[in-house]
Amino acid sequence: MIMDTSRARAAELDQQDPLAAFRQHFYQPDPDLVYMDGNSLGRLPLTTPERLHQVIQQEWGTQLIRSWNEAGWFTSPQRLGDLLAPLIGAAAGEVAIGDSTTVNFFKLVLAALGLRPDRPKIVSDVFNFPSDLYVLQGVRSLLGNRHNLHLMPSRDGIYMDWETIAESIDSSTALVTLSHVAFKSSFMYDARAVTEYAHQQGALVLWDLSHAAGAVPVALNDWGADFAVGCTYKYLNGGPGAPAFLYVRRELQAQAASPIWGWYGDSRPFAFDLAYAPAPDIRRFVSGTPPVLSLLAIEQGISLLAQAGIAPLRAKSVALTEYMIALADTILAPLGFVLGTPREPAQRGSHISIRHVEGYRINRALIEEMQVVPDFRTPDNLRLGLAPLYTSFTDVWETVERIRRVVVEQRYQHYPTTHTAVT
Ligand SMILES: *Cc1c(COP(=O)(O)O)cnc(C)c1O
Repeated sequence: MIMDTSRARAAELDQQDPLAAFRQHFYQPDPDLVYMDGNSLGRLPLTTPERLHQVIQQEWGTQLIRSWNEAGWFTSPQRLGDLLAPLIGAAAGEVAIGDSTTVNFFKLVLAALGLRPDRPKIVSDVFNFPSDLYVLQGVRSLLGNRHNLHLMPSRDGIYMDWETIAESIDSSTALVTLSHVAFKSSFMYDARAVTEYAHQQGALVLWDLSHAAGAVPVALNDWGADFAVGCTYKYLNGGPGAPAFLYVRRELQAQAASPIWGWYGDSRPFAFDLAYAPAPDIRRFVSGTPPVLSLLAIEQGISLLAQAGIAPLRAKSVALTEYMIALADTILAPLGFVLGTPREPAQRGSHISIRHVEGYRINRALIEEMQVVPDFRTPDNLRLGLAPLYTSFTDVWETVERIRRVVVEQRYQHYPTTHTAVT
């Protein structure tokens, strides 16, 4: 079948899109800007400034400290966790929000290792986000280098083979921790199968859902997952630096210990006892006073995703990524681009990497003069985030067309090859 590469076809797909109306719920001052980085920093929901204004003016300005009780600031880490829970297949009381993904990951890695004190092996992979791998290295050092950290290799930088997984996880494994969707190639694990296999070996499993939450179906309870963490500023649209979530399976909560014995995790914070007695529930993983302003900014994004529903979001995400891959195959492959992402939708998240030797300079030209905002990940990946809540098929078409122009018109050649601080 010949690919219909016309812009009219993209407009037709937008007309048939049942989620198209959600785009109007986001701030878009510049209609010509094609935003392809919703997997890194989600767009601003229209109702967030109003909500934050109310929190600042009314709850902080007028009510002052009374808001800890009256506005529910004190319980907000759990309240927002409960709001997020259905989107990641968790139950109420299993999710809390606060601290960064990195810090939450640190807390849960130590909690998991504490439950498997006699097992020396930690399994992760070469796809994982560097912060997660650094934390694992730090934890290893902190615990006296008793553990060995096994990073599963990838044959091609895109996929992880089941054989590699099966031979890496064994009866000496304490913890398996992976990103459900890999930040570079977008490879998506069969999380249920990995969790089941790890449990058969007696290991615990911690999923990083940063590139998954809000974009692909996540079923923590169903998978039998033990622990999870993830960002709220990516597909959840919580805003820059918004605090991250953590999940601990209900049955593990009373045994798993947080390494940060903060007063918010104490069973009676306002008793001001001199000795720590951890709360019996998820609260023991909340370390200290939450960042209220950025925490409350998360609510609007989560509500919009909940209204859309994760199944329709996934259906649209698959349609968007299929469309982009087909356009890239037809229009960009002849210009030297190679797909750096799985072709099978079941093994792919909601972003696409296309690779080109001039990837870095092409990315610069797109941002500086073509009104397209993707991002770049070394060594040669142009990464395109397709956030199903607001990315349109026309956005996809425009992106491919503007990439084509940057290459054909050799616009990238005006840029230096030295990298900016944030790519
Ligand atoms: C984005 C991302 C992070 C970022 O962690 P921060 O603590 O928010 O900087 C961590 N892990 C993964 C898998 C990510 O994609």
